Order: sequence, then structure tokens, then C-alpha cells
Amino acid sequence: IRKFFVGGNWKMNGDKKSLGELIQTLNTAKLDANVEVVCGSPAIYLDFVRSKMDAKLGVAAQNCYKVAKGAFTGEISPAMIKDVGVNWVILGHSERRHVFGESDELIGQKTAHALENGLCVIACIGEKLDEREAGITEKVVFAQTKVIADNVKDWSKVVLAYEPVWAIGTGKTASPAQAQEVHDKLRAWVKTNVSEAVANSVRIIYGGSVTGSTCKELASQKDVDGFLVGGASLKAEFVEIINANV
Ligand code: 13P
Repeated sequence: IRKFFVGGNWKMNGDKKSLGELIQTLNTAKLDANVEVVCGSPAIYLDFVRSKMDAKLGVAAQNCYKVAKGAFTGEISPAMIKDVGVNWVILGHSERRHVFGESDELIGQKTAHALENGLCVIACIGEKLDEREAGITEKVVFAQTKVIADNVKDWSKVVLAYEPVWAIGTGKTASPAQAQEVHDKLRAWVKTNVSEAVANSVRIIYGGSVTGSTCKELASQKDVDGFLVGGASLKAEFVEIINANV
């Protein structure tokens, strides 16, 4: 069955001192052994974070480019991420989509290239508030998921993160029922469009203002297989979220 997955997305936060302290907290905390934990570090600290973090904890880059190397000033490749011992990358985050204008097409290309080069991918999808209010949540997240799915061969290397944009960094967590409803529909989409086996095995995690106090009820939902945590992943509270099921 599906191993609970808790990702931290530190975004553009922290420095060696504060991240070093956070890593120390995670390394020494009592963490539920039935949870896969992966922390998304700023690119410049990936090597540092990987070298300090206990081997049982995963590390992710927050982005990468769609080709191996070349004249792409400012970008990093999956091969470089692998080269510093990091095995995961977050792709399609709403901030990449909406602050940096990344298209579905680009996110699909990045997904294909990252997987081909041996990275595991946390692929993010989610509707904006106006889209939810217009009743097109499903249409939006299915379209985003299709572009990702078209670029995946081995689904064991992919975690789907449903992050409603209106819940990210707003303190407005989706209700457990709202999250469950979308996760259930996404799993049904995967069943129809990929396979029943993948639908049963793929982790669909929730992100958007997850906290120590909201995590337990969300985690109890049938199709919520974990979290992608922003703000709270920079605090000791992240331990509570990892341990949501204990
Ligand atoms: P917050 O937990 O800060 O709302 O961020 C969620 C997120 O974007 C994780 O990728």
C-alpha cells in the first residue's frame, strides 16, 4: 500500500545557520518510520543540506531545467542535482507556474528529462481561486495532470502534489473534505487514463497552509497520502506534521 509522504518546501528561505539547525532537529527527532520525508532546499544549499541531513531523509531541488547542459544561464540540470547526491526535484510548483510563468508544456518537458536522468519528481498541480469559484477545479487539475502523465513512464518515481493556489501561504487550508474530494477525483483520473495499478500506488499529497493543527484530520482522509509543506516545514512543527498519523 502507499507509504505516507511528507515533503518540505523551504522555498527561498533560510541560510546555512538556520537550515543547519533545522536539519539537526530533524536528524535527532523521533520520526514515524512509516513516513518518507523529503526536504526541498534552495539550489545553492543542496550539497550542504545533503551532506548534513541523515541518510534516511530525502532531499529535493525545487526546480531544474529540461536539458542536461549548455548555455542556459542560471539554470541547473537533473545531472547536477544527482551529482550532489540529491534524488528528488519539485516540478510545476504554483510559484514556478504563476510567478515565473512556466507553462504546462515546459513542466512536462522538465518532468520527462528529470525522470530520464534518474530523479524522482514531486509534480505539483492546483487550481487558482477564480478557477475554483468558476467550478472548473477538476478541469484545471486534470489538464495539468495529463501533461505530467504524458511524460511519465515509471510512476514509482512520481508523487503528485495537489496544492490549491488559494491555500498556499494564505493560512487558508483546504478543508479535509475539499482535499479528499479532489484527491479522489485525481485518483479516478489516473485509474482511467493511466492504470488501476498506478491509481492504487501513486501517492497524492496535499499542500497549502498545512500546520501541526490541521495535519491530523487531513491525513485521515482516504486519498490523502501525505503533505507538501511550505512555511511550517521551516519550523520544529514540521516534526508534528511528519508524525501526523501517530
Ligand atoms: P504553505 O505551506 O506555506 O502554504 O506552502 C505550501 C506550498 O506551496 C508547498 O509547496
